[in-house]
Amino acid sequence: MESIHVGDENPGGKSLNFIEQIIEEELAAGKNGGRVHTRFPPEPNGYLHIGHATSICLNFGLAASYGGRCNLRFDDTNPSKEETEYIDSILADVRWLGFQWDGEVRYASDYFQQLYDWAERLILDGKAYVDDQPAEVISAQRATPTEPGVESPFRERDADENLRLFRRMRDGEFAAGERVLRAKIDMTSPNMLLRDPIMYRIMHLPHHRTADKWCIYPMYDYTHGQSDYLEGITHSVCTLEFEVHRPLYNWFLEQLTPAGYRPRQIEFARRNLTYTVMSKRMLLQLVREGVVDGWDDPRMPTISGLRRAGYTPESIRAFAAKVGVARREIAVDVSLLEFCAREHLNRIAPRVMAVIDPVRVVVESYPEDHTEWVEVENNPEDASAGTRRLPFTREIFIEREDFMEDAPKKFFRMTIGNEVRLKGAYIVKCERVEKDEQGRVTTIYCTHDASTRSGSDGGRKVKGTLHWVSAGEAIEAEVRLYDRLFKDEDPAGHKEVDFKEFLNENSLRVARHCKMEPGLVNARPGDRFQFQRLGYFCVDKSSRPDALVFNRTVGLKETWSKQNTR
Ligand code: ATP
Ligand code: MG
Repeated sequence: MESIHVGDENPGGKSLNFIEQIIEEELAAGKNGGRVHTRFPPEPNGYLHIGHATSICLNFGLAASYGGRCNLRFDDTNPSKEETEYIDSILADVRWLGFQWDGEVRYASDYFQQLYDWAERLILDGKAYVDDQPAEVISAQRATPTEPGVESPFRERDADENLRLFRRMRDGEFAAGERVLRAKIDMTSPNMLLRDPIMYRIMHLPHHRTADKWCIYPMYDYTHGQSDYLEGITHSVCTLEFEVHRPLYNWFLEQLTPAGYRPRQIEFARRNLTYTVMSKRMLLQLVREGVVDGWDDPRMPTISGLRRAGYTPESIRAFAAKVGVARREIAVDVSLLEFCAREHLNRIAPRVMAVIDPVRVVVESYPEDHTEWVEVENNPEDASAGTRRLPFTREIFIEREDFMEDAPKKFFRMTIGNEVRLKGAYIVKCERVEKDEQGRVTTIYCTHDASTRSGSDGGRKVKGTLHWVSAGEAIEAEVRLYDRLFKDEDPAGHKEVDFKEFLNENSLRVARHCKMEPGLVNARPGDRFQFQRLGYFCVDKSSRPDALVFNRTVGLKETWSKQNTR
């Protein structure tokens, strides 16, 4: 497995982000014996998205650059929302991004017994109690940050009774919601999370790993800090919403563990992306309602969607490095992500000729029944990519929009009387066209200048160069032209309007019977190409040699503003 160093993505960039600064200060002071141990802790309740990807790159990147380790831990405390499908997808996504977690995959559920034992200890120490009140009452008694909360009538229950009741909760004697275990902290704290938070609730649901062993489940807040502690995490990097949880995590560790080593929580701001939504709830809604073709639809901001669209792990890591970390939440322009994709694909994607909206061209001066093999470069950015040969014939296809009858002066593509070069082949001149009853061009007739074959021509240059494929030799394919899923920069940011109101109805255009150069018959799902002059494309997972399907990753240039207003 390839290992990634933060520095690799940022050559020469020596300035440290605020998290690196903290780590380096601590290393200099000899804290934790020089260990750096981070973790990425997803909840398996959805697929990972590009925001998670930045967090993955950050956590694994920090471990790599300080010779440390990074755990992958599933925070699987809520059996009602979690599925193994999500676990499998998360494992695949982290690996695909190029990272390998330390040791085995961890699960918060690995610690259920330890957490339970600790809960009994808190009960015996008079620091936790069973509350018989329903959730709504408990929540109302918490009041607001400016008024003190109301203490539960069960708050002073004695330890033995609490222990008996807690064990009966564990043994399945109560229905869901009948009782909870709460920490006894401070009902007047200005931090609402310290107002006797719930530690355990009853859920008669099987768990994906512990099956029906438990019918009480620890709350996330009672689990997270101790899980970090048990794994020896030194730097618990998380998003800003957990800042207010930090005193609670610390409170539990103070009660339960000896003084000394503590994971240090460091918060950073979420990274959002324009023209999409990042909430798992909204993404799930798009999947369930069939707005998209699953979690890996190429329009989704999920890692699996980006992969299916043709993004490379390198481009996503480069994006994460460019975005960096900060304390202020920002929406990163999606064009930065697209830029990163283009930059990498430009270096690695073989060039091929593909005509998405073909129109027939007959080169009348060229002999019939003749096939000539012309040599073209596979990638001008990469000399080692070599060359390939394409069949040139009397009948070819070009892109319909590359011909214009009444062309403006600056139109350097094909128009009657004008010369253009067919990439890798000859200079041709359009003489006349044939149309159907609707006035649509059906055939373009050209002549060629036989002395201008690419590579051997006498240096004659013309303004326009077009891509083309031989009509007789071309293979057919379907091309899915994806666009942004939403028309609004921040679809989830409108209080009055549902985010789905902002869906872009033109986010997918399917082009069938596209014409491709013959070598593409060997293209396999996941292969990436630059269709010359059109953009970057990736073979879809559904593609078969006799029914090729390509997804557009990105165009060659930033074109959204144009497309958005068309
Ligand atoms: P949920 O509401 O289900 O908790 P979540 O997006 O926080 O959604 P988690 O599985 O808890 O999902 O996220 C795993 C990790 O990824 C967390 O540490 C979280 O802070 C981080 N993370 C989530 N979204 C982003 C984001 N947009 N930018 C950066 N980090 C993120
Ligand atoms: Mg979360």
